[in-house]
Amino acid sequence: MIKEIELGISPTIINDAEALKAFISKNIGFPVHRIHAFEIKKQSIDARSRIIVFRAKMLVYIDEDPIQTPNPHLFIPQKINHAKRVLVIGAGPAGLFAALRLIELGYQPIVIERGKEVQARRRDLAAINKNGIVNPESNYCFGEGGAGTYSDGKLYTRSTKRGDVDRILTRFIEHGADPNIMVNARPHIGTNKLPQIIVKLREQILNCGGEILFDAKVIDFDIAFGLCKGVQLADGTRIAAEALILATGHSAKDIYELLDRKKIKIEAKAFAMGLRIEHPQALIDQIQYKCELPHPNLPPSYYSIVEQIDGRGVFSFCMCPGGIVAPCATATDEIVVNGWSPSKRNNPFANSGLVVQVNLEDIPGITQSPLAALHFQHKVEQLAFRLAGNTIKAPAQRVADFINRKVSTDLPKNSYIPGLTALSLDEVLPGFVSDSIRKALPIFGKKMKGYDSNEALLIGVESRTSSPVRIPRDKITLQHPEVSGFFPCAEGAGYAGGIVSAAIDGEKCAEAVAQFLN
Ligand SMILES: Cc1cc2nc3c(=O)[nH]c(=O)nc-3n(C[C@H](O)[C@H](O)[C@H](O)COP(=O)(O)OP(=O)(O)OC[C@H]3O[C@@H](n4cnc5c(N)ncnc54)[C@H](O)[C@@H]3O)c2cc1C
Repeated sequence: MIKEIELGISPTIINDAEALKAFISKNIGFPVHRIHAFEIKKQSIDARSRIIVFRAKMLVYIDEDPIQTPNPHLFIPQKINHAKRVLVIGAGPAGLFAALRLIELGYQPIVIERGKEVQARRRDLAAINKNGIVNPESNYCFGEGGAGTYSDGKLYTRSTKRGDVDRILTRFIEHGADPNIMVNARPHIGTNKLPQIIVKLREQILNCGGEILFDAKVIDFDIAFGLCKGVQLADGTRIAAEALILATGHSAKDIYELLDRKKIKIEAKAFAMGLRIEHPQALIDQIQYKCELPHPNLPPSYYSIVEQIDGRGVFSFCMCPGGIVAPCATATDEIVVNGWSPSKRNNPFANSGLVVQVNLEDIPGITQSPLAALHFQHKVEQLAFRLAGNTIKAPAQRVADFINRKVSTDLPKNSYIPGLTALSLDEVLPGFVSDSIRKALPIFGKKMKGYDSNEALLIGVESRTSSPVRIPRDKITLQHPEVSGFFPCAEGAGYAGGIVSAAIDGEKCAEAVAQFLN
């Protein structure tokens, strides 16, 4: 007999299989010797009351053994060297997953990536952190694996299509991720583990006969009579193909400008902007776990917080427990911050975006140019750089000082390696953004006691929460309405917001290409 149950499990026994079995036996009323096995299918932390438990949905096998059923989502490699060629621009999660799906469907992906392979990319990240020098072609957003490689690797998505999500998670596991990501309600890989997984995804694509070009920046599209025929690279090379998936991410400013110059329809899109907030992780643990010393089996705690201020959303974004605030600019004259954490989430700080909804009507010149939201975003990033003395030493202020409109005289210890500049963040942010954050912070402080204390630090600017441009596409064919064979994809086109949703959209575009080429 197989019983499906849900239990609240104490952290004290969560890692002890024998104790867990005894606990299950007590709960279902069957003696331990009759329980052959149990399998946790989904697990989350329930910290709503003082007694914190792991809430687990599980299958219990009574008087019988589990039968291994094959995972229906496994990748089936095949050689596609002589198949029809499809260009995939960008080797982020969308591009890599599009390439793998194209292979499954019998097409040859040619992935074109402006940045470097993960190993070489590491040196450019070191230069950003140590010397404050940003390579516009190789940084935290550009390079193999895209913005996903040196990200936190949170694989949580709002997508409700379990099959789609399971396919993506399976692909990560097949290429080296911990199988627990299938079980955990908030799966996470970690910056230290992602690069090896990206390398394995690359090897899979190459072994099947796909191609990946690095240091290859697309600077033009070859379009004739409304049909996309290929691309031109920065070194003058032209590459032809039967179809093109554009998966260049939300930081490819030059791609949006190119589309606009070529009069290919794009639209301004609402997004969110604000700051990164950093607290000691111990403080967040105390707030979330409601005790001084949480049980060591509990992971560093997470939070998600939102408030409407004067009809505008202010919310936490991409929270990284035990993480690092990272310098994520893609040009030499701007400051952009984001966050990541290693798999163990064992850094002493917790950081999160704290951002404000930016509506189209907030943006000057919105009716004149589809690039208005992009320019609005970029101006704030450039202003932050200038006010920081033309460096990437990011503008920062203690939370209580920010609320009281006082420049901080000293800044607390923090995780941002390039260094900080004490500034009034009101000088950096648009007025409605800083006002909304100022009003929201004390409310968040009531919900999470200590959240708005002077131990907390605000770092600017968190401006790349999603794309400020949408590249339109037909709902069914996924092609651009004006250019056949041209498939705008994932975050850069405005159809995804995170690793898993970008990967899902990459797969969807690959399937749409297959329909088109048939
Ligand atoms: C520090 C950080 C932490 C993050 N943490 C998380 C997280 O924990 N969980 C989560 O879900 N999301 C996270 N994200 C967001 C996530 O990484 C993105 O949503 C995701 O990578 C988007 O995938 P994509 O493939 O659409 O675009 P991208 O990952 O942005 O990839 C686009 C690729 O296109 C390439 N490209 C751009 N222009 C050109 C050109 N002209 N020619 C050739 N190539 C080009 C770029 O170099 C890049 O490699 C984080 C992002 C950052 C920066």
